[in-house]
Amino acid sequence: MKRSHSCGALRAADAGKEVRLAGWVSGRRDHGGVIFNPSLHPQVAEVAHTLRSEFVVAITGKVTPRPEGTKNTALGTGEVEVVATELQILNPSETPPFPLDEEGVNEDLRLRYRYLDLRRPAMAEALRARHRAALAIRRFLDQQGFLEIETPILFKSTPEGAREYLVPSRLNPGKFYALPQSPQQFKQLLMVSGAERYFQIARCFRDEDLRADRQPEFTQIDLEMSFITREDIYAVIEGLVRNVWKEVKGVEVKTPFPRVTFTDAMNSYGTDKPDRRYGLQLADFTETFRNSSFKVFQSAVANGGVVKAFNAKGLAEITTGQIEELTNLAKAHGAKGLAWIKVEGGDWKSPIVKFFSEAEKKALTDNLSVTEGDLILFGADAWTAACEVLGLVRIRCAEYLEKLGKLKRDPAHLDFHWVIDFPLLRKDPEHPNLVSSHHPFTAPVEEDLPLLDREPQKVRGQHYDLVLNGVELGGGSIRIHRGEVQDKLFREILKLPGDIVTSRFGYMVEALKFGAPPHGGIALGFDRLMALLLGHESIRDVIAFPKNARGQDVMSGAPAEATARQLREVHVKVEGLPGA
Ligand code: ASP
Repeated sequence: MKRSHSCGALRAADAGKEVRLAGWVSGRRDHGGVIFNPSLHPQVAEVAHTLRSEFVVAITGKVTPRPEGTKNTALGTGEVEVVATELQILNPSETPPFPLDEEGVNEDLRLRYRYLDLRRPAMAEALRARHRAALAIRRFLDQQGFLEIETPILFKSTPEGAREYLVPSRLNPGKFYALPQSPQQFKQLLMVSGAERYFQIARCFRDEDLRADRQPEFTQIDLEMSFITREDIYAVIEGLVRNVWKEVKGVEVKTPFPRVTFTDAMNSYGTDKPDRRYGLQLADFTETFRNSSFKVFQSAVANGGVVKAFNAKGLAEITTGQIEELTNLAKAHGAKGLAWIKVEGGDWKSPIVKFFSEAEKKALTDNLSVTEGDLILFGADAWTAACEVLGLVRIRCAEYLEKLGKLKRDPAHLDFHWVIDFPLLRKDPEHPNLVSSHHPFTAPVEEDLPLLDREPQKVRGQHYDLVLNGVELGGGSIRIHRGEVQDKLFREILKLPGDIVTSRFGYMVEALKFGAPPHGGIALGFDRLMALLLGHESIRDVIAFPKNARGQDVMSGAPAEATARQLREVHVKVEGLPGA
């Protein structure tokens, strides 16, 4: 059964060799009933007629040049064939539930038979590429002096905002572990312990709704460093990204990556993860409409809000259905409606344009370079809301324009950039007090410290996000490294009850009081990075055994019921479970 070569390895230079190969039957070419030359090898011909897709076979034979006219230069092996003298079926296969060479197979079916799905060349290549990327990351970080250190999976609740998976403890009745949302606290504790440079390709768990392309368990390239500033993190990550793209794709990524402040990103693109490969930038018209006779805009400004607009250049041919879609999108994100103007036949066509003065029209024309065939879209609301809604409308307009061939989002154009200077804290409608924009271990920007008591919302955090073409690849921060500052943030700024601070974060605050070095870190989403690197739409395509959109493993049937006995042992009672 031992192979002499793997199937893809033979070349013209191997002609004449006796070889033994093994593998799966991919296709069966039966040239008018003659599979192998029956007069030469009756055993081979007999077995060959019984072969079907995905049978595992071994053959012995001689490498021979293909006859002229049958060579296939697209294949490495395309100049030779093996004339079999012996053919053995190592294992037959049932008929696969879907053809392995077909695109667009239902995903639940692919996931149900993932082991077959992974035989498809694109999927096998994704696994190989992921391995090469992980190797490149480990090699690079090792050269930079990082240690790979594992941290616990059985942990307790962490303050990163997502819902957590709980694991009941048999030995500690009524107590639960939580699966870590990230190794955040452990990596900081490793810095306190003197590890200096930690990394881990870490599994993280978040019990979130899976609407967007998310997984309940996912992988982060997680790292932390001591005695550094933000610049050191940028340099390490830029080097890491350069290495991965070079080794996996052979592509040179330009570094250093540009930096964009959160405020600028929001003002120009309406999002903190802008896709800057195309324009359609938002502009501010708050002053233009401060005293407008168009009451919707005027009152938004009077209430302390802003008026923003952008020119979806060339999109006047938008359909009524698309306008409706954009309006629904805006409404779904809290807007009351969506104001627009089409520029067609030299006219501004819009239900609102009759309210605009000549000066207002001129301001729009000048600042948005409005010409025939354009579509202008407006947002009038509080700054964040107006920016965010228009940001979403902008992305949708880019999709429309791309379909019309008027705009291109080139996947080969790699616009890596850092988004920096996020606010440290933000208002959350579901919270009486301010909450951390990211996590509560983020350090304030040094020069903003005096504002922390007076105007906490003006304080910037030393947080940074890495963004590629509209996708957040990851983020991190310089941390608070002084126990009393961390304690003050919890108690006085976030206003958490004292007993919660003690029970949930007491040990972190305490650790920081034992000579914690200044430190900071970052985590990149490895699944997302691989999907972008390989041009896959979904992260499920770069994960060997992902869950479906309902968080289920449709192959094994996880999650599944537990038996009454298992539940008793872990001191858990499930309401309504038969036999519990
Ligand atoms: N733990 C953070 C996260 O998972 C990353 C970091 O701050 O290093 O987003």
